[in-house]
Amino acid sequence: LVSRYNGLLFFGFVASMPKTILPDWIYYPFFCPSVKVDENGRLKHANYGMRKIEGTLIANGFTRDEVAVIHPEHIDKAVDENTEVVAITSIDPLGIGPLTSTCTELFDGTGRMAAKLQEVLESPSIRKHKPKVILGGPGSWQFGAHPEKMDDLGIDHVVIGEGDISAPKLIKGIIDGNSEEFPKVIDGEVTFEEDIPEIVNPSIIGLVEATRGCARSCAFCVPSVRKVRSIPLPQIMKEVKVNVDSGENGIILHGEDILLYKSDGLNVNSEAVINLFREVKKYAGVNWVYGVHTSFSSVVSSPETIEEISKILELNGTQNKVNYFQVGIESGSSRLIRKHMKGKVYPFQPEEWPDIVRKGFKILNDNHFIPCTTLILGLPGEEKEDIQESIDLVRSLKGHKSLIVPMLFTPLETTRLEYSKGLYKKDFSPEHYELITACWEHNLNWTPLLWSHYGYSKNAFVKFSMDIVFRIATKLILARMRYIARKHGAEI
Ligand code: SF4
Repeated sequence: LVSRYNGLLFFGFVASMPKTILPDWIYYPFFCPSVKVDENGRLKHANYGMRKIEGTLIANGFTRDEVAVIHPEHIDKAVDENTEVVAITSIDPLGIGPLTSTCTELFDGTGRMAAKLQEVLESPSIRKHKPKVILGGPGSWQFGAHPEKMDDLGIDHVVIGEGDISAPKLIKGIIDGNSEEFPKVIDGEVTFEEDIPEIVNPSIIGLVEATRGCARSCAFCVPSVRKVRSIPLPQIMKEVKVNVDSGENGIILHGEDILLYKSDGLNVNSEAVINLFREVKKYAGVNWVYGVHTSFSSVVSSPETIEEISKILELNGTQNKVNYFQVGIESGSSRLIRKHMKGKVYPFQPEEWPDIVRKGFKILNDNHFIPCTTLILGLPGEEKEDIQESIDLVRSLKGHKSLIVPMLFTPLETTRLEYSKGLYKKDFSPEHYELITACWEHNLNWTPLLWSHYGYSKNAFVKFSMDIVFRIATKLILARMRYIARKHGAEI
């Protein structure tokens, strides 16, 4: 979380790679080189969630001297006898998140993020001065499922969900000596969009929040249980300014489905979305804009919005050749889509889903967007036929420039499927192996071309080295996947 990933946002996913795959001396310099810090260990650019907590503390009366956003490896420079609270953000504190679980199941080993958290919690300054330790962030749900781990790790409080209101309340309570009035696991209070404080210092790679929550309500997904909000444009522009003033030349607009910015329910508000991209792109100093996530249903129901965004971003030009969206396919089975994620396909019907996915890929590719997608294996109630439908769908997408990342179903706390059984390698069927291999075959086919787009303007040495790493790594992974799949009875 303290890396710019060489300016390549999607390398963030590599943080889910278990320790066994690559040694630290290759992993950190190539994939996650650290951002800069000042002499006191303060970060110049920091994780957006942590910046939000910093912003809300300042908005609630703390001074900038009282709040320090510190690089975890420099924590001993910051924590002393005057430190009252150490607040930590984590995406995957116990190493059981969906992507880490998928990687550790497939390749064995332990998750890096869990190991890194442990290092921070065992740092000499925390052991010596014993400040109260609180944890939040996207992975805090893991302590809702495993509260007993808090004492093992030395964490006093966990905030699950939003921290805009609950974090300053808790921190003030601790400072006033009233920490016992707060439960160990706190469900974060929800606030209105106009009351969400802005960040006051730059985030990593210019990330700015545009929407929060998702009304598509997929049964396995955490944002689906959050209140849906679109951040007002003036607030977004203030955060764009903070980032551009720090030297960023691009902005990443975060939202679970950016095409639903200011939407009327699940209907795309084309004018609002286009205006959002136009205003951010024309801000002096902004050369590129990414919208992190969208959905195939939004893309197919409003292809003209994608076309217009592509023009605003001047894609296929000399500076910005392509752009990316992270999109969920999740399953090729209409039956499972109907069972677990009917809202994902609105305004279409679950039976249309495979066609919607194919049309979505085409619209995105035609407008110079590359879909980086996920597909879930082991959704509750999955049968052999459902997996076969996913295999068929993946193979039918062969001609579209894209990535398809297979993930194992992991039940997440607070979602409708929290008590369902996750999928583990020991339960894989030959069809699961075949599906995973089909995804890797697809990715191997496109990786060299995608990398030539993605890395085109970056440091020549990094580009050259990564080119080789990609070609070798993807081939090795594919060879291993084919070998394992055949060994388990898949017909490949
Ligand atoms: S569309 Fe995506 S973000 Fe929205 S509920 Fe479904 S999985 Fe979650």
